[in-house]
Amino acid sequence: MSDEKVIHIFKPSDDLPPCPMEVKSSSPVFHCNHRSLQIDTHERTVRCDACCAMLDPFDYIARNGQSLQMAWRDYRIVRDRIKALNESVERLAREEKRLKASIRRTKQKIPDRLDVRGEP
Ligand SMILES: [Zn+2]
Repeated sequence: MSDEKVIHIFKPSDDLPPCPMEVKSSSPVFHCNHRSLQIDTHERTVRCDACCAMLDPFDYIARNGQSLQMAWRDYRIVRDRIKALNESVERLAREEKRLKASIRRTKQKIPDRLDVRGEP
């Protein structure tokens, strides 16, 4: 048997020694899931108010800019829809008023006692 056909099975040990190093990143993170911010105008930094993660201001604006843009677009759509519905309600109210007046005028033309039996 040649050495090329021997398969060595790698069996990792169950015990893994603790990692001797821990690197804490001081670079800004792209985002976190919290919503409250601390903006330091003197240091020109943006931090999460909940977890104190340093956020890159440009990345934060770029990420949230699209959300803000969509929110504005949705707001404009809802506002236009409400405006159209209010105009429709006003149109219907005017039509109701016109029809009620028409009914009132028609009722005034009808005699108080209408003989439907045809008796003299
Ligand atoms: Zn956070």
